[in-house]
Amino acid sequence: MALLKKRYATRQIKLGNIKIGGDAPITVQSMTNTYTQDVDATVSQIKRLYDAGCEIVRVAVPDMEAANAIRKIKNRLKELNSDGIGNEIYEKNSGINIPIIADIHFDYRLAIASAESGADGLRINPGNIGEKNKIKAVSDCAKSLNIPIRVGVNSGSLEKDILEKMGNTAQAMAESAMRNIAILEDLGFSDIKISLKASDVERTVEAYRLISTMTNVPLHVGVTEAGGLYAGITKSAIGIGMILADGIGDTIRVSLTRDPVEEVRVGWEILRSLGLRKRGPEIISCPTCGRCKINLFDIAAKVEEALLQCPLTIKIAIMGCVVNGPGEAKEADIGIAGGDGVGILFKKGEIVKKISQEKLVETLLEEIENYHI
Ligand code: SF4
Repeated sequence: MALLKKRYATRQIKLGNIKIGGDAPITVQSMTNTYTQDVDATVSQIKRLYDAGCEIVRVAVPDMEAANAIRKIKNRLKELNSDGIGNEIYEKNSGINIPIIADIHFDYRLAIASAESGADGLRINPGNIGEKNKIKAVSDCAKSLNIPIRVGVNSGSLEKDILEKMGNTAQAMAESAMRNIAILEDLGFSDIKISLKASDVERTVEAYRLISTMTNVPLHVGVTEAGGLYAGITKSAIGIGMILADGIGDTIRVSLTRDPVEEVRVGWEILRSLGLRKRGPEIISCPTCGRCKINLFDIAAKVEEALLQCPLTIKIAIMGCVVNGPGEAKEADIGIAGGDGVGILFKKGEIVKKISQEKLVETLLEEIENYHI
């Protein structure tokens, strides 16, 4: 039985230069944690995110200064070039062109100011924007500037009447999403994507399963406030992974209490693990055991760090011993296995040469640089 179900057919929207929904690739996005008003810090973080493979970035807009900073941030990014790896979305040496989404709560004027400042999309929750005339002002502005709106439904901020009727359930989240979609569509605005996030896997998965049968609006998928490294990665991998495996989801955001660059790396690993998209090398390494006589953890960390910007989509194995290493990692394109005083270099499971332990990392990196797929 295939791991992945057929992808749900959602309608396509465009966020700057990125398509979302329909047959577009599932994109990886993140959110800055700098003060958006601090243009230098925000530009620097967006560049790091972009270099790591972030395709859409969201910034918090708590006040007018932050809204106005979006234009400066976009202009500054255009003057920079990526040090990141190429893929089908990036264009080398053409400035950093990444869609910026303004994240707004409560004050509709911040949404309008952000759109006028050049934001490529808005993230609002119509429920907390208030009266219909305010929502209309935002959707009219987005329509005139041709930018989409993400309706962000969060289990922590559901409408009171829905909560009273349905409790804090996946059904309530789907109901809130449908209500918010209807509010915008009644105002003649349909350039929408939607997210339904809870901080637990069960409700999140259930909510996405429900909504995917109710609308063809493209879906932004994530588990919100997932936690630190261990809990966050685990919840995100299981939650986002289950949803994507069901054929649901058009763009993903991993939420971690960490440097957002880590979110992007995890996002790409989720897509790679499901065979949905690839970016850069895949490193497989053994956990080590009593046969290992080298510092494999250190070697694996050095290789991983050195290859963060590597463009090749090759499979690299880093194995602790020559007894089982090459055999266990036969499907790898290239790899090393530690021995006693020496290590070996292997390609496609075949031993190529012996190398002194001290030169294992250096030799592997050289071989990868010269490797032709
Ligand atoms: S490759 Fe060797 S060191 Fe690593 S787990 Fe397997 S047997 Fe142990």
